[in-house]
Amino acid sequence: MIPRPIQRLLLTTLYDAFAEWADAFAFACRKGCATCCTRSVTMTSLEGDGIMTFLAEADRLSALSAPAFQPTASRMGQCTTNTFVAAHLRGESVEEAESWDLRPCPFLKEESCTIYPVRPFGCRLFASLDPCAASGVAEMAPGYLAGATALLQYIEHLDSGGRWSTMVELLAGLRTGQADGYGQTTAAIPGFLVAPDERDLVEPLLQGLLAREVENQTFAQWLRKARP
Ligand code: SF4
Repeated sequence: MIPRPIQRLLLTTLYDAFAEWADAFAFACRKGCATCCTRSVTMTSLEGDGIMTFLAEADRLSALSAPAFQPTASRMGQCTTNTFVAAHLRGESVEEAESWDLRPCPFLKEESCTIYPVRPFGCRLFASLDPCAASGVAEMAPGYLAGATALLQYIEHLDSGGRWSTMVELLAGLRTGQADGYGQTTAAIPGFLVAPDERDLVEPLLQGLLAREVENQTFAQWLRKARP
């Protein structure tokens, strides 16, 4: 198990590596466009802890008591990213989410994110090659989703044995000390779902991240210590 402060450093390192990689895509996303900011954003408890710390330091924790942050009955599927990938690798059919809660994220104010520095990776990966506000449908670049999904898997692996759920649900659980009552248990990486024609794009992202050093060890070395 990796100490929480190191996990947070690793998470920041991953965010930085992803931002540099994603910068090469000509996405249409601009500040003020918030079509993708909904209550269906998911995250791990590792990311949730970072949001709780950010809110506490800004004396904003009481905001989580507002009605907008009350969780609704979960509509998510029963799989985390890694359990979803594991099922696919075993050739099993996977239960899809019944529906998405597309109401605006409660952290969205005047089309801007009020926790921007600590927004979870589920927010950071949203991107579209074409403006999607009118249609609500994002146009993904080939290979982009495979790279982003692999990093979602790394984050879940770092937080193995933690929780995975929607941001609204997990924050409700963290606020009341009952996070185990929400979502699913996070799991280690079982493998990846990168297609052969996506490897040239995804490999530099993964290899570059694995070679980065955090507290005198590479990201790859830390990953090997992450299992609970
Ligand atoms: S946390 Fe911020 S970036 Fe993420 S969905 Fe909410 S408003 Fe959007």
